[in-house]
Amino acid sequence: MAVCANCSRELQPEWKFCIYCGTPTGVPVTVAVAAAQPEVPPAAEPDVLRADDIPADEPAPASHPPAARAARINILAVLALILGCLVSPLAALFGHLALNQIGRTGERGTAIAWVAIVLGYLSLAALLVLGISYFALIA
Ligand SMILES: [Zn+2]
Repeated sequence: MAVCANCSRELQPEWKFCIYCGTPTGVPVTVAVAAAQPEVPPAAEPDVLRADDIPADEPAPASHPPAARAARINILAVLALILGCLVSPLAALFGHLALNQIGRTGERGTAIAWVAIVLGYLSLAALLVLGISYFALIA
């Protein structure tokens, strides 16, 4: 078995050059280069295996999206958090709705929903205080 002078890997007799590093195996360089293009695909079995591996891997990621979809963050929880940041009491309402949805769908976002609920009630309290102060001032 011949061995590549450059990378010391085993060479098949029919190879005009090393498939690992491209070093010619003794055939004149111009011939090796000319033969290189048609010879590479059939000789490079690792490439064929790699090509087989890619389609074999594709079904696995394709089977993941359903699980990923189930684990995505609940939209209502995000919406509730945004409302909470806008100091809206609606955040508490949307947070509770989000918790209900999360309980049914198994989505993520329970923590976000609770933060939104807390923000919502704080907003409600703040608005009540503001409202009472307003009416106290004009009274
Ligand atoms: Zn080599």
